[in-house]
Amino acid sequence: MGIAIVTGGSRGIGAAIARRLAQAGHDIVVNCASSVDKAEKIAEECRALGVNAMAMQWDVSDHAACEQALAEIKEKMGVPYILVNNAGITRDGLMVRMKEEQFDDVIRINLKGAYNMLQLCGAMMMRAKKGRIINISSISGMVGNFGQINYCAAKAGLIGMTKTAAKELGARGITVNAVAPGFIDTDMTAGLAEDLKEGAKKQIALGRFGKPEEIAAAVAFLASDEASFITSQTLVVDGGMI
Ligand code: NDP
Repeated sequence: MGIAIVTGGSRGIGAAIARRLAQAGHDIVVNCASSVDKAEKIAEECRALGVNAMAMQWDVSDHAACEQALAEIKEKMGVPYILVNNAGITRDGLMVRMKEEQFDDVIRINLKGAYNMLQLCGAMMMRAKKGRIINISSISGMVGNFGQINYCAAKAGLIGMTKTAAKELGARGITVNAVAPGFIDTDMTAGLAEDLKEGAKKQIALGRFGKPEEIAAAVAFLASDEASFITSQTLVVDGGMI
């Protein structure tokens, strides 16, 4: 068992991953951008499962803030064994109308943010000669999606980063994989128009949106000893949509 950092662990998929990894016996760092109370509540739930857990606010897109957070984690808990790059945002809009800021914000948080954590944690894991990294991509990054050119570029980028990091870190016994969820019931999808949601469900073999716990189960598997020979992969968890 080791220390697991879950970025964007205050809500939705990240919160479910934090709980699931705590259930597996890992100590947890619950990161958030601003909802500290929610992150603290998830950390409390993890502690109730018998592990050490702390909530920490920092912006993953800020490299210096990531460095500072990791120094604090190392001092208070130790070297991370698991990194789950889950923090993400959407700023949807059709390409021809998209503002530069919409594009930049999504790339900065979803792609550069994951890179910051991957680079810094990767260096620590290399010294420890062990580690598990799981990047939360999306099926949108694999097949594209109307109104999400920024998000799809970032999520496709995460898959390329996963494959490169897997090559660079593999010799030190570190695995790097991605999970690509389909439509999952969280705050991120709550605001979608009803007709869009119904249309999406028709394309899903299982006929429904997934639950955050169903993504957490895939992450927990990739983080487990049983997945020791799996690296550089993207595991699609979409109820049979793509
Ligand atoms: P939510 O919107 O429910 O939660 C997003 C989380 O990311 C929050 O914890 C938020 O913190 C955190 N966050 C946002 N920006 C930053 C930042 N700059 N630094 C640190 N943390 C940040 O999202 P979901 O749970 O739905 O999604 C989680 C991941 O799964 C995302 O990467 C998303 O792209 C991906 N995904 C989701 C799908 C879905 O259908 N829901 C489908 C495919 C992929 P705070 O609470 O403080 O705002």
